[in-house]
Amino acid sequence: MSQPDLETRIRTCRQCPLVETCRMPVPGQGNFSASILFVGEAPGKQEDEQNAPFVGRSGQLLTSILEELGYLRERDYYITNIVKCRPPNNRDPNGEEIAICSAYLVEQIETMRPSVIVTLGRFSFQFLVPGRGMTESRGRCFRIHAVAGRSLSFAPVVLACYHPAVALYDPKKRGIITDDLSILPSLVQQLSVSDS
Ligand code: SF4
Repeated sequence: MSQPDLETRIRTCRQCPLVETCRMPVPGQGNFSASILFVGEAPGKQEDEQNAPFVGRSGQLLTSILEELGYLRERDYYITNIVKCRPPNNRDPNGEEIAICSAYLVEQIETMRPSVIVTLGRFSFQFLVPGRGMTESRGRCFRIHAVAGRSLSFAPVVLACYHPAVALYDPKKRGIITDDLSILPSLVQQLSVSDS
């Protein structure tokens, strides 16, 4: 399935009750041909209103960190969430919602075939790399061969990163996020050589 078809399917999805309390699903944004996919948890208020992921305060912080590193959303990466509809009052998505909606993320991963998937926060990290804690995993890379029990047709690398929202309340975390993301150029280059 092509990216536009997949995004249209997501935008018109009504598979779970979350769609009743949001404006509409937010499929993702950026360059689907890029090598890097960012995955967060779920849209917030601003994301729901603008129908774009990571455009609120924490998203703007992430965007500015990435721009400092030379990465532009429209050119260098695609960004999405595990759950595409905003949960009411920004509550955490529950297991059933993640189980249903994550099928779209798996399709996005298979269609885009990124060499690196950067997880933003523990929800997306523990979905893609189950059984590992965020604290000891942050800044580390994990090769994955399956997602939620489904084998992938390729083996991307997951880079575990904090959710940018943590840096809004703890400025030291901004430096940690920047440091963790600063390995992206060498990581992508290394993978393009080793996977070719
Ligand atoms: S959260 Fe996902 S599965 Fe539920 S309605 Fe929205 S797009 Fe569909």
